[in-house]
Parts: sequence; structure tokens; C-alpha cells
Amino acid sequence: MEQVPVTLVPGVGHVKQGLLAELDIYTVDDLLHYFPVRFEDRRPRPLETVTEPAQVTVLATVEGAPELRWRGRKSVLRARVRVDHRHLVTAMWFNQHYLRGRLGDGRVLRVTGRYDPDRRTLVVSHTEFGGAEGAAFVPVYRSTKGLSTSQIQQIIDKALARYGHALSERLPRELVDKYRLWSHRRAVAAMHRPLGDEDRRQAHRRLAFEEFFLFQLQLQALRARRAHSEQRPKLAVPEDAFETFTASLPFPLTNAQLRACRETTSDLVGDRPMVRLLQGDVGSGKTWVALWAAYAVTRAGGQTAFMAPTEILAEQHHREAHRRLQTLGVRVELLTGRTPAKERAAILGRLAAGSVDLVIGTHALLTADVRFARLELVMTDEQHRFGVSQRNALRDKGRWAHVLMLSATPIPRTLALALYGDLDVSVLDERPPGRKPIRTVICGYSEEPKVILRARQVLAAGRQVYVVAPLIEEGEGEGDRATGAPSAVELEARMRDAFAGFSVGLLHGRMPGQEKDAVMRSFAAGEIAVLVSTTVIEVGIDVLNATLMVIYGAERFGLAQLHQLRGRVGRGAYESCCVLMSDARQGVSGERLRTLTASEDGFYIAERDLELRGPGEFLGVRQSGLPEFSVGDLTTDLRVMEVARDEAARLVADPDFWLLPKYAALRQLLEDIETPPSV
Ligand code: ADP
Ligand code: MG
Repeated sequence: MEQVPVTLVPGVGHVKQGLLAELDIYTVDDLLHYFPVRFEDRRPRPLETVTEPAQVTVLATVEGAPELRWRGRKSVLRARVRVDHRHLVTAMWFNQHYLRGRLGDGRVLRVTGRYDPDRRTLVVSHTEFGGAEGAAFVPVYRSTKGLSTSQIQQIIDKALARYGHALSERLPRELVDKYRLWSHRRAVAAMHRPLGDEDRRQAHRRLAFEEFFLFQLQLQALRARRAHSEQRPKLAVPEDAFETFTASLPFPLTNAQLRACRETTSDLVGDRPMVRLLQGDVGSGKTWVALWAAYAVTRAGGQTAFMAPTEILAEQHHREAHRRLQTLGVRVELLTGRTPAKERAAILGRLAAGSVDLVIGTHALLTADVRFARLELVMTDEQHRFGVSQRNALRDKGRWAHVLMLSATPIPRTLALALYGDLDVSVLDERPPGRKPIRTVICGYSEEPKVILRARQVLAAGRQVYVVAPLIEEGEGEGDRATGAPSAVELEARMRDAFAGFSVGLLHGRMPGQEKDAVMRSFAAGEIAVLVSTTVIEVGIDVLNATLMVIYGAERFGLAQLHQLRGRVGRGAYESCCVLMSDARQGVSGERLRTLTASEDGFYIAERDLELRGPGEFLGVRQSGLPEFSVGDLTTDLRVMEVARDEAARLVADPDFWLLPKYAALRQLLEDIETPPSV
């Protein structure tokens, strides 16, 4: 059925085929697994329970003759109807004049529409004739121009009737029995046409489990394969290395840093390639852990490559590495797009000869001419900024090189654990001491003059200010005006007026990379006092003198994103403040923003964001590297994921799985996976 094209479903010709393709539906299998996004409740309810205008379905009998009126090409059809043999209501159909003849006196209807209890009017959107039982829940599908949800419903009905029986079971029999799951076939049918809430629940449970299980099976199989096949020589890190390293630091490591260093070390001296995610909130001190790893590898005679997404970050890391490690005898180099050709050639020569221990750089590290004598460790900062292939390209310059990925993206722990069953995670859940808290406040736009005044004081004291806008120019998103959020371009002009005498800079994603770097450098050097920017200001950038951040249209950012932005201030010894400009103080938006004023814990904030908005939106799926699921919901089905993970791990560890014919289809699924989807 994966092979059966949609055109074999009755009523689907080439036009519909094209429209379905826009929804990524090509085969009958795709079609049957194209599930409704929600259901409309069409269970009739007693009218006296409706006290506010609401969508209802009722049983009604027409009384008297309907009345039709035209206004230009638009029509209104009115009829007096008796609902539940009691209430007299005026029902209205807009632009459905053709129904007139069918609404004779005494006609029994089942109608759905918006009922206004004060006026006793019902604006009908859906009409069924005769009192017959209609569907209790009507599916609503994501539709496209030219193909409505009800057309999709009809197509799926036909596909179900003709091909539904051919849907085969995907899960092992024993799991279906153990968890009393519905069959795949039954669940799919119920997803489209549930008879009630329990049907929907069972169908969802079954398919979420299946989806998570297949995902986990792939991860677990990879993990097993890696554990068996990739043995690598152990690194000999001398006993005294760690003490030497810590003694060279100006402050003691935090307990979390100590733990992460320990976990990393035990991977480095093991015989399996490390694949470790180092997760830590902004400012938690990930760099030092990375520098430790590089130092340990150096002491064992190996080389390290440390890749950052931008030149500025690479330069910053290089400065820090130089300061901390050079005195310990580590030979550190920087390699970016700005490195002059001659110098680059010299560095490449030394890398290949093994006379550089740690090279820090950007994508410039990825080109084929960059060769290593003995690359043992690959590290990436802000790991979500790199694709799998880029990371692998670097890793493949060594033989089974260890990998350490640094990430400030606070994937909630529960989620990370459930998802990355195959990935080792170290968490820095503690901040270096002495950091001043960032005061965060929410201000409406009427308070803008006060905020500007405050910014002036900050500037007068010699500090610097970030101003963040949700978009570059006007008219990029819908309803920008409505939220009152100005664009970066508009704000730059406004700030120039407001802060005459201070230099104002502009930074956004559509500027060429070189120009962006130049602006960021001027800000870091203190030449620019006020930086107006979109979200492109680098995570991880360290401008200690910047102490105030004003974020316009704050409700339009993800919480995790706001938290990361805010992490740009409060890095030095000064008191810092973050102002969230927003008029959205009610409802979920307001609640989300208040989470930020109440906490500086990135993980807590991420958990709250996840609760309030669900994972799809919580970071932007692509950016966060979270896999997408069509049925399973990472917010509400996390427990299901855990069970699925355990079952997948058990199955992969069972020799039967790799031998018995009954698992052949599942094994087939694992055939062509080279890298885990998440790593
Ligand atoms: P991030 O995790 O965001 O990359 P950094 O590694 O940039 O954080 O560290 C943030 C700041 O904290 C840096 O200025 C760094 O020198 C400092 N720092 C890191 N670890 C400690 C520590 N244990 N004690 C005091 N300061 C620290
Ligand atoms: Mg960092």
C-alpha cells in the first residue's frame, strides 16, 4: 500500500492528486495516515444548557414556511424551528437559498451552528435532514486551497472502505497483547471516525505508542550497533592532568562542572567513541568543561577541533583557550574565514604534522584540505546550529573521534531523557557563584517613555544597551501592527532620535556575514552604545559592559528564546535588567511572560513553555532538533515514550529479534539508517 497511488481511490483524478501532493499525500498509505487535526463535536445537546453564544448541534422541526431574502448576490434564508419540541428559535442559512424547497413545514432536521441564547437565533453551518443519527464527532483535516476538509473527509472515507482492511500490523504481537493495544487497522479507522471519546483515546494511545516505539527502535538499534562495532584505542590521560588544569583556573569549578568533567573523562579513556551532549543554561560555564576535554586529549597526545557557528564566537573561545591553556603547554590555533591565506596554509601544515593540539574555528574547519595527524576529539558549540552532515564531516577527519556537543538550548530533562535514549547527556544545572541576578520586568507600550529614560541613564553611566525587535522590517508577518511591535529598522530610527549623542547600530539576519561581524565587533569594543537587533545576536556572546536589554513584542518570542536573549546581559559585575515590552498581559501570553520575571532557570522555563505551548512551538521544531511526530505528543505522552523506549531496548537486546522471520519487517526498518535522527 505504500506503493498504491492516490489516484486508485475512486473520485481522485489528476487535479485532486496534485492538491493532495501539496499536503504530502502521495499514496493510499499516506492518505490513511493523514489524521484529523481535531474533531467537531456534533452530539446534540439540550438548548437550555447553552447560556452564552456557542457552537451547538440540535434536533429541530420546521414550523411554517421559510422566508428568503436577497441582498445583491447574497442570500439569507430564515425559518422558525422548534428545538427539542420546546424552544422556538429562528434558524438562519446564509447563501444556501437552494435549501428553501427542502425546509417545508414539519420537516425534521439535525443542524449544527452558532446559537445565540439572547436573540434565540441559530446561524446554521451544517444541515442534515431527518432525525437520523449523524456522526457524533466530525473530523477536521488540515486542508489546502482547492481541497476542503470535507472533500478530504470524503476521499478518506472511500480509501478506508476500499483499502482499510489491507492495513497490516506493525508492532510485535506480544506488545499488542501486553499493553492491550488495538490493532493498527482498527486504530487508524477510529482516528478518522471515532464513535466516542473512548474510541479516540484508544486509537491515539495505540498509534502514539507505535510511532514512539518505531522511533526508539531505530535509536536503540544504532546504539547497539555502535557498542558492538566501534571499538577504539583508549586515550591515556595522565593522573595529574585534572589537577593541573583546575589549578590554572582563576576560580574553582562548580559541582556541576566537576561532574560534567568527570563524565567526559571517563568517556575519553574508554574504548567507545563518546557522543555526549553538554547541556547548560547560558552562563553555566560550558566553555571550561570543553577546555578540560581538550586539555585531557592533548595530554594523551591527541588533537582537538572545536567548531563554533560564527567567527565572533570562535574568536571568543580562542581568546579564552589561549589564556587558560597556552601556559599549560597546549598549542592553540584559530582558523576562520578571516584567517589570511598564508597563515592558514601554515596552520594546516602544523595540523597535519601534529604540532597543533587544539584548533578552534568555524565552518572553515570543514574543508577537505584541513587534515589532522591525530584527531581524537571533535567539539561543537551551539550544536543545533550545525547539521548532522557537518558534524560528521569534522568527525570523519579522525578515526572514531570522540564527540562533545555544547548546547544552551534547554531541552527539558524529561524530554531529553525520553528522546535521546542513545545519547549521553551531561547537564550543568548550577551557575558559577557571584553572578548578579538579572531583573526582568514587563512593560506596556504606554510605559515606553519611562523605559527610554532609564536607558539614557544606563548609557550616561557608560554602559551599553541591547534593543531587540521581533522582525526586521514592517509587513513581514501578519498582524504586526496589531501587536504594536515595531520592526528593527523602525526601532533603529526611533533610537537614534531618543539617544542623540550616542552611537546606534543595527544588526539583522539579512545583512551579509562580514557586515554582521563588523557591527558585533564594534559593539563588543564599545564603539556602538545601543545595538538594535533581531534575534541574531549570538548566543554565547560576552559583552560584559552591556547591562540593559529591551525586547519589543516580547509575546512573539518563545520563552526559551527570550531567556537566551536575556542571557546577553548580566555577564559582568554590574546590575543588569531586561525589559519585556508587551501589551499582552492576559491569558497564556501574559502567563508565559511572567514565568520569565519569576525565574532565571532555563530548564524550568523550558518545562513551563513546553507545558503552556506544547513542544512543536516550544523551540521551533527544526531549530531544536526535536523529532516530529504525527500522533504522539511529547507534552502529554511522555510516559508512553518511556515505555516505548524500554520495550525497544529490550527487543533490540533479544537475539530472537535479529533472527526470527516474524521480525523481518521491523528489521527492514533499520536497514538504511546510518546516523540516528537526533544526533
Ligand atoms: P556558557 O555555558 O554560556 O558557554 P561560559 O562558558 O561562557 O558559559 O561562561 C560564562 C562566564 O562564567 C565566563 O565569563 C566564564 O569565565 C565564567 N565561569 C565559568 N566557570 C566559572 C566558575 N566555575 N566560577 C566562576 N566563573 C566561571
Ligand atoms: Mg558558550
